[in-house]
Amino acid sequence: MRRVLVTGGGSGIGRAVARDFADGGDHVTISGRRLDALQETDAGRGMHCQTADVADETSMKALFDTPFDVVVANAGIGRAAPVANTSLDLWNTTIAVTLTGVFLTFREALAGMKSGGRLIAVSSIAGLHGEPNAAAYSAAKHGVMGLVKSLALEVAKRGITCNAVCPGWVDTPMAETAVTNVMQRLEISREEAKKRVFGDKPSGRIVKPEEVAAAVRYLASPEAAMVNGHGLVITGGET
Ligand code: NAP
Repeated sequence: MRRVLVTGGGSGIGRAVARDFADGGDHVTISGRRLDALQETDAGRGMHCQTADVADETSMKALFDTPFDVVVANAGIGRAAPVANTSLDLWNTTIAVTLTGVFLTFREALAGMKSGGRLIAVSSIAGLHGEPNAAAYSAAKHGVMGLVKSLALEVAKRGITCNAVCPGWVDTPMAETAVTNVMQRLEISREEAKKRVFGDKPSGRIVKPEEVAAAVRYLASPEAAMVNGHGLVITGGET
């Protein structure tokens, strides 16, 4: 039975990924800052729920008392703001959680990881191209891609891979918050706000969390042993 860690496992993509591994028979640990959210993800599946802030070195070290076979660095935050209105606090917090959090997660994971191990970051298409009104988030996700590609080269000889998934908009609380913010700021309907935030999609819809989980499952599989340093785009043809 593989030991799997999913950070930010209490909602959205992290929840779908954690449940996918647990339902497939893996032993899953989920982390996040809210214990009640983690327990809701578990819903009787027998996952280990541990509170940890990905931006806090001490609490991240405590997560890795025993080594994992698969580590999914999923926790991240993103708040919309044009560069001119991005406070230093918003910039620093976004980088600390969304980029440094992935670095700490992977660095701690490396110590005990054996051959066959899998490091997977939940990045974004914002890690591959620029996003107006999301410079801090996009910069953090570009940083994640640099980390993934560099680490992939460091671990290849150990039989470990390091990859990322790069989804477009996914139907999660993060997307819902973005829609609500636009709705309130522009005083428009939810449907109108969705059109503004998500734009026209080739497939006519945004991505489901379970579709990201399926991509993560593939990257974690033995069949993906030669996929390394890759960013797997999940957009339904948008890019
Ligand atoms: P979400 O539902 O808001 O999930 C974010 C998770 O990260 C939460 O469970 C949250 O749990 C955790 N988290 C936030 N700050 C943390 C911290 N300091 N320490 C530990 N955990 C923290 O949003 P989501 O859409 O599922 O996002 C998951 C990942 O997917 C993020 O990296 C995001 O950038 C990426 N992504 C999302 C989309 C999208 O459209 N939704 C698209 C591309 C990529 P706690 O609050 O309990 O800590």
